[in-house]
Amino acid sequence: MGIIIDGKVLSKKIREEVAEEIIKHALRPKLAVVLVGDDPASHTYVGRKEKACQAVGILSAVHRLGSEVTQAELMALIAELNQDNSVHGILVQLPLPRHLDQMAIFSMLKPEKDVDGLHPLNVGRLNLGLPGALVACTPAGVMEMLKSINYSLKGKHVVIVGRSNIVGKPMSTLALRADATVTVAHSSTVNLALHTRQADVLIAAVGKRDFITADMVKPGAVVIDVGTNKVGDKLVGDVDFAGIKDVAAYITPVPGGVGPMTIAMLVKNTLQAAKMQHG
Ligand code: NAP
Repeated sequence: MGIIIDGKVLSKKIREEVAEEIIKHALRPKLAVVLVGDDPASHTYVGRKEKACQAVGILSAVHRLGSEVTQAELMALIAELNQDNSVHGILVQLPLPRHLDQMAIFSMLKPEKDVDGLHPLNVGRLNLGLPGALVACTPAGVMEMLKSINYSLKGKHVVIVGRSNIVGKPMSTLALRADATVTVAHSSTVNLALHTRQADVLIAAVGKRDFITADMVKPGAVVIDVGTNKVGDKLVGDVDFAGIKDVAAYITPVPGGVGPMTIAMLVKNTLQAAKMQHG
Protein backbone atom coordinates (compact mmCIF):
# COMPACT_ATOMS: atom_id res chain seq x y z
CA MET A 1 0.00 0.00 0.00
CA GLY A 2 1.32 3.44 -0.96
CA ILE A 3 1.82 6.13 1.63
CA ILE A 4 -1.06 8.57 1.99
CA ILE A 5 -0.07 12.23 1.99
CA ASP A 6 -2.34 13.68 4.64
CA GLY A 7 -3.47 17.14 3.53
CA LYS A 8 -5.29 17.79 6.79
CA VAL A 9 -2.21 17.35 8.97
CA LEU A 10 0.04 19.35 6.64
CA SER A 11 -2.54 22.09 6.21
CA LYS A 12 -2.84 22.44 9.99
CA LYS A 13 0.92 22.87 10.30
CA ILE A 14 0.98 25.60 7.63
CA ARG A 15 -2.00 27.39 9.19
CA GLU A 16 -0.27 27.31 12.59
CA GLU A 17 2.87 28.82 11.07
CA VAL A 18 0.77 31.59 9.51
CA ALA A 19 -0.93 32.27 12.87
CA GLU A 20 2.46 32.52 14.60
CA GLU A 21 3.79 34.92 11.99
CA ILE A 22 0.73 37.15 12.26
CA ILE A 23 1.32 37.44 16.01
CA LYS A 24 5.07 37.92 15.61
CA HIS A 25 4.68 40.83 13.17
CA ALA A 26 1.56 42.22 14.92
CA LEU A 27 -0.32 42.19 11.60
CA ARG A 28 -4.06 42.39 11.06
CA PRO A 29 -4.50 40.93 7.57
CA LYS A 30 -7.93 41.15 6.03
CA LEU A 31 -9.39 39.07 3.21
CA ALA A 32 -12.40 40.21 1.23
CA VAL A 33 -14.28 37.37 -0.42
CA VAL A 34 -16.65 38.07 -3.29
CA LEU A 35 -19.32 35.43 -3.67
CA VAL A 36 -21.68 35.69 -6.64
CA GLY A 37 -24.83 33.62 -6.91
CA ASP A 38 -26.08 30.68 -4.90
CA ASP A 39 -23.97 27.71 -5.96
CA PRO A 40 -24.08 25.48 -2.84
CA ALA A 41 -20.49 24.20 -3.31
CA SER A 42 -19.17 27.78 -3.54
CA HIS A 43 -21.04 28.68 -0.34
CA THR A 44 -19.46 25.69 1.42
CA TYR A 45 -15.95 26.61 0.21
CA VAL A 46 -16.37 30.24 1.23
CA GLY A 47 -17.59 29.15 4.68
CA ARG A 48 -14.44 27.01 5.09
CA LYS A 49 -12.21 29.86 3.96
CA GLU A 50 -13.83 32.26 6.44
CA LYS A 51 -13.35 29.76 9.25
CA ALA A 52 -9.71 29.15 8.35
CA CYS A 53 -9.06 32.90 8.27
CA GLN A 54 -10.64 33.45 11.66
CA ALA A 55 -8.63 30.64 13.20
CA VAL A 56 -5.28 32.17 12.20
CA GLY A 57 -6.12 35.80 13.00
CA ILE A 58 -7.12 37.01 9.53
CA LEU A 59 -10.22 39.20 9.33
CA SER A 60 -12.60 38.22 6.59
CA ALA A 61 -15.58 39.91 5.00
CA VAL A 62 -17.83 38.14 2.52
CA HIS A 63 -19.55 40.26 -0.11
CA ARG A 64 -22.55 38.30 -1.35
CA LEU A 65 -23.97 39.32 -4.71
CA GLY A 66 -26.97 37.94 -6.56
CA SER A 67 -26.37 35.85 -9.70
CA GLU A 68 -27.91 38.62 -11.82
CA VAL A 69 -25.21 41.14 -10.82
CA THR A 70 -23.81 43.02 -13.83
CA GLN A 71 -20.18 43.20 -14.89
CA ALA A 72 -20.20 46.93 -14.08
CA GLU A 73 -21.58 46.36 -10.57
CA LEU A 74 -19.03 43.65 -9.82
CA MET A 75 -16.22 45.81 -11.16
CA ALA A 76 -17.39 48.70 -9.00
CA LEU A 77 -17.12 46.48 -5.91
CA ILE A 78 -13.62 45.32 -6.92
CA ALA A 79 -12.57 48.96 -7.44
CA GLU A 80 -13.82 49.76 -3.95
CA LEU A 81 -11.94 46.83 -2.40
CA ASN A 82 -8.79 47.78 -4.36
CA GLN A 83 -8.97 51.23 -2.77
CA ASP A 84 -9.71 50.04 0.76
CA ASN A 85 -6.41 50.01 2.63
CA SER A 86 -7.81 47.77 5.36
CA VAL A 87 -8.27 44.97 2.77
CA HIS A 88 -5.08 43.09 1.90
CA GLY A 89 -6.45 40.20 -0.12
CA ILE A 90 -9.39 39.90 -2.52
CA LEU A 91 -10.74 36.52 -3.51
CA VAL A 92 -13.41 36.19 -6.17
CA GLN A 93 -14.94 32.76 -5.67
CA LEU A 94 -15.18 30.74 -8.89
CA PRO A 95 -17.13 29.79 -10.88
CA LEU A 96 -18.76 33.08 -11.79
CA PRO A 97 -22.06 33.10 -13.69
CA ARG A 98 -21.49 32.82 -17.44
CA HIS A 99 -22.48 36.39 -18.30
CA LEU A 100 -19.53 37.76 -16.31
CA ASP A 101 -16.09 38.17 -17.87
CA GLN A 102 -13.85 36.39 -15.40
CA MET A 103 -10.53 37.48 -16.89
CA ALA A 104 -11.60 41.14 -16.95
CA ILE A 105 -12.41 40.87 -13.24
CA PHE A 106 -9.08 39.26 -12.31
CA SER A 107 -7.15 41.71 -14.48
CA MET A 108 -8.53 44.67 -12.57
CA LEU A 109 -7.54 43.37 -9.14
CA LYS A 110 -4.59 45.10 -7.54
CA PRO A 111 -1.89 42.46 -8.18
CA GLU A 112 -0.70 42.66 -4.57
CA LYS A 113 -4.23 41.79 -3.37
CA ASP A 114 -4.72 38.93 -5.86
CA VAL A 115 -4.52 36.00 -3.42
CA ASP A 116 -5.67 33.54 -6.10
CA GLY A 117 -2.68 34.39 -8.28
CA LEU A 118 -4.77 34.96 -11.40
CA HIS A 119 -3.82 38.52 -12.28
CA PRO A 120 -1.69 38.57 -15.46
CA LEU A 121 1.16 40.23 -13.55
CA ASN A 122 1.26 37.43 -10.99
CA VAL A 123 1.04 34.79 -13.72
CA GLY A 124 3.83 36.57 -15.61
CA ARG A 125 6.02 36.85 -12.52
CA LEU A 126 5.55 33.16 -11.82
CA ASN A 127 6.43 32.27 -15.41
CA LEU A 128 9.48 34.50 -15.51
CA GLY A 129 10.67 33.43 -12.07
CA LEU A 130 10.43 36.98 -10.74
CA PRO A 131 9.99 37.62 -7.01
CA GLY A 132 6.77 38.85 -5.44
CA ALA A 133 4.33 36.62 -7.32
CA LEU A 134 1.21 35.51 -5.52
CA VAL A 135 0.85 31.92 -6.73
CA ALA A 136 -2.42 30.06 -7.29
CA CYS A 137 -3.29 28.28 -4.04
CA THR A 138 -4.01 24.75 -5.27
CA PRO A 139 -0.77 24.16 -7.20
CA ALA A 140 1.19 25.91 -4.44
CA GLY A 141 -0.42 23.45 -2.01
CA VAL A 142 0.58 20.50 -4.20
CA MET A 143 4.19 21.71 -4.11
CA GLU A 144 4.00 21.80 -0.30
CA MET A 145 2.73 18.22 -0.31
CA LEU A 146 5.72 17.11 -2.40
CA LYS A 147 8.05 19.04 -0.09
CA SER A 148 6.53 17.31 2.92
CA ILE A 149 7.69 13.93 1.60
CA ASN A 150 11.10 15.36 0.63
CA TYR A 151 10.38 14.65 -2.99
CA SER A 152 12.65 16.49 -5.40
CA LEU A 153 11.13 17.11 -8.82
CA LYS A 154 14.53 17.61 -10.41
CA GLY A 155 14.77 15.42 -13.50
CA LYS A 156 11.40 13.79 -12.75
CA HIS A 157 8.63 13.48 -15.29
CA VAL A 158 5.50 15.25 -14.09
CA VAL A 159 2.32 14.61 -16.02
CA ILE A 160 -0.57 16.98 -15.32
CA VAL A 161 -4.01 16.13 -16.63
CA GLY A 162 -5.90 19.41 -16.98
CA ARG A 163 -4.76 22.83 -18.18
CA SER A 164 -6.99 25.32 -16.39
CA ASN A 165 -5.65 28.75 -15.44
CA ILE A 166 -6.26 28.03 -11.77
CA VAL A 167 -4.71 24.53 -11.51
CA GLY A 168 -3.09 22.88 -14.54
CA LYS A 169 -1.15 25.80 -16.03
CA PRO A 170 0.36 27.22 -12.81
CA MET A 171 1.07 23.64 -11.70
CA SER A 172 3.07 23.07 -14.88
CA THR A 173 5.04 26.29 -14.30
CA LEU A 174 5.86 25.37 -10.71
CA ALA A 175 6.98 21.88 -11.71
CA LEU A 176 9.09 23.27 -14.55
CA ARG A 177 10.67 25.78 -12.19
CA ALA A 178 11.52 22.86 -9.91
CA ASP A 179 13.44 21.27 -12.83
CA ALA A 180 10.90 18.61 -13.73
CA THR A 181 10.15 17.55 -17.29
CA VAL A 182 6.50 18.42 -17.70
CA THR A 183 3.70 17.04 -19.83
CA VAL A 184 0.33 18.78 -19.73
CA ALA A 185 -2.57 16.70 -21.03
CA HIS A 186 -6.08 17.94 -21.83
CA SER A 187 -9.25 16.94 -23.60
CA SER A 188 -7.56 16.82 -27.04
CA THR A 189 -4.69 14.63 -25.84
CA VAL A 190 -4.49 11.42 -27.84
CA ASN A 191 -3.79 8.19 -25.95
CA LEU A 192 -3.76 9.75 -22.51
CA ALA A 193 -2.72 6.54 -20.74
CA LEU A 194 0.48 6.41 -22.80
CA HIS A 195 1.46 9.73 -21.22
CA THR A 196 0.21 9.08 -17.69
CA ARG A 197 2.08 5.76 -17.52
CA GLN A 198 5.34 7.70 -18.02
CA ALA A 199 4.71 9.87 -14.99
CA ASP A 200 6.90 9.84 -11.91
CA VAL A 201 4.37 12.32 -10.55
CA LEU A 202 0.84 12.20 -11.90
CA ILE A 203 -1.43 15.15 -11.10
CA ALA A 204 -5.11 14.82 -11.96
CA ALA A 205 -7.15 18.03 -12.27
CA VAL A 206 -10.00 17.10 -14.55
CA GLY A 207 -13.24 17.02 -12.57
CA LYS A 208 -14.35 13.49 -13.49
CA ARG A 209 -14.63 10.73 -10.91
CA ASP A 210 -12.53 7.58 -11.40
CA PHE A 211 -10.95 9.18 -14.44
CA ILE A 212 -7.47 7.91 -13.58
CA THR A 213 -7.42 4.14 -13.20
CA ALA A 214 -4.69 1.77 -12.01
CA ASP A 215 -3.65 0.78 -15.55
CA MET A 216 -2.78 4.44 -16.22
CA VAL A 217 -0.26 4.66 -13.37
CA LYS A 218 3.39 3.63 -13.32
CA PRO A 219 4.17 1.48 -10.27
CA GLY A 220 5.90 3.60 -7.63
CA ALA A 221 4.55 6.91 -8.93
CA VAL A 222 3.36 9.79 -6.77
CA VAL A 223 -0.32 10.38 -7.51
CA ILE A 224 -1.87 13.73 -6.62
CA ASP A 225 -5.64 13.99 -6.90
CA VAL A 226 -6.85 17.56 -7.28
CA GLY A 227 -10.33 16.63 -8.48
CA THR A 228 -13.42 17.18 -6.38
CA ASN A 229 -16.60 15.53 -7.56
CA LYS A 230 -19.83 15.26 -5.64
CA VAL A 231 -21.37 11.78 -5.65
CA GLY A 232 -24.55 12.07 -3.62
CA ASP A 233 -23.37 13.46 -0.29
CA LYS A 234 -19.83 12.20 -0.79
CA LEU A 235 -16.83 13.99 -2.21
CA VAL A 236 -14.57 11.94 -4.49
CA GLY A 237 -11.54 12.82 -6.58
CA ASP A 238 -10.53 12.10 -10.17
CA VAL A 239 -8.46 9.11 -9.14
CA ASP A 240 -9.68 5.58 -8.48
CA PHE A 241 -8.12 5.61 -5.02
CA ALA A 242 -8.97 2.00 -4.11
CA GLY A 243 -7.46 0.68 -7.34
CA ILE A 244 -4.35 2.87 -7.32
CA LYS A 245 -3.30 2.96 -3.66
CA ASP A 246 -1.39 -0.31 -4.05
CA VAL A 247 0.34 0.76 -7.28
CA ALA A 248 1.46 4.24 -6.23
CA ALA A 249 4.29 4.96 -3.79
CA TYR A 250 2.42 8.02 -2.53
CA ILE A 251 -1.16 9.09 -3.04
CA THR A 252 -3.39 11.93 -1.85
CA PRO A 253 -6.91 11.18 -0.62
CA VAL A 254 -10.14 13.03 -1.39
CA PRO A 255 -11.38 14.44 0.91
CA GLY A 256 -8.46 15.34 3.17
CA GLY A 257 -5.81 15.84 0.48
CA VAL A 258 -5.35 18.79 -1.83
CA GLY A 259 -8.55 20.54 -0.65
CA PRO A 260 -7.28 21.50 2.84
CA MET A 261 -3.95 22.50 1.28
CA THR A 262 -5.69 25.00 -0.98
CA ILE A 263 -7.20 26.67 2.07
CA ALA A 264 -3.87 26.68 3.91
CA MET A 265 -2.21 28.35 0.93
CA LEU A 266 -4.99 30.93 0.78
CA VAL A 267 -4.28 32.05 4.35
CA LYS A 268 -0.56 31.98 3.56
CA ASN A 269 -1.10 34.13 0.45
CA THR A 270 -3.24 36.57 2.44
CA LEU A 271 -0.41 36.91 4.96
CA GLN A 272 2.07 37.42 2.09
CA ALA A 273 -0.23 40.05 0.57
CA ALA A 274 -0.51 41.88 3.91
CA LYS A 275 3.26 41.79 4.38
CA MET A 276 3.85 43.16 0.88
CA GLN A 277 1.38 45.98 1.50
CA HIS A 278 2.98 46.85 4.81
CA GLY A 279 6.35 46.98 3.02
P1 NAP B 1 -11.56 22.87 -15.48
O1 NAP B 1 -11.29 24.33 -15.67
O2 NAP B 1 -12.90 22.32 -15.80
O3 NAP B 1 -10.45 22.07 -16.28
C1 NAP B 1 -10.54 20.70 -16.48
C2 NAP B 1 -9.40 20.28 -17.37
O4 NAP B 1 -9.55 18.88 -17.62
C3 NAP B 1 -9.39 20.98 -18.72
O5 NAP B 1 -8.08 21.43 -19.03
C4 NAP B 1 -9.85 19.90 -19.69
O6 NAP B 1 -9.28 19.99 -20.97
C5 NAP B 1 -9.34 18.65 -18.99
N1 NAP B 1 -10.07 17.48 -19.45
C6 NAP B 1 -11.41 17.32 -19.53
N2 NAP B 1 -11.71 16.12 -20.06
C7 NAP B 1 -10.52 15.51 -20.31
C8 NAP B 1 -10.17 14.27 -20.90
N3 NAP B 1 -11.09 13.40 -21.31
N4 NAP B 1 -8.85 13.98 -21.00
C9 NAP B 1 -7.90 14.84 -20.60
N5 NAP B 1 -8.20 16.04 -20.04
C10 NAP B 1 -9.48 16.37 -19.92
O7 NAP B 1 -11.31 22.44 -13.99
P2 NAP B 1 -10.32 23.00 -12.83
O8 NAP B 1 -10.85 24.27 -12.31
O9 NAP B 1 -8.91 22.91 -13.24
O10 NAP B 1 -10.60 21.87 -11.76
C11 NAP B 1 -10.33 20.50 -12.00
C12 NAP B 1 -10.86 19.69 -10.85
O11 NAP B 1 -10.16 20.07 -9.69
C13 NAP B 1 -12.34 19.90 -10.53
O12 NAP B 1 -12.86 18.71 -10.01
C14 NAP B 1 -12.31 20.95 -9.44
O13 NAP B 1 -13.45 20.88 -8.61
C15 NAP B 1 -11.07 20.52 -8.70
N6 NAP B 1 -10.44 21.57 -7.93
C16 NAP B 1 -10.10 21.25 -6.67
C17 NAP B 1 -9.44 22.17 -5.90
C18 NAP B 1 -9.06 21.79 -4.53
O14 NAP B 1 -8.76 22.64 -3.71
N7 NAP B 1 -9.05 20.49 -4.20
C19 NAP B 1 -9.14 23.44 -6.40
C20 NAP B 1 -9.46 23.73 -7.73
C21 NAP B 1 -10.11 22.77 -8.49
P3 NAP B 1 -9.59 21.22 -21.98
O15 NAP B 1 -8.76 22.35 -21.48
O16 NAP B 1 -9.15 20.72 -23.29
O17 NAP B 1 -11.06 21.48 -21.88
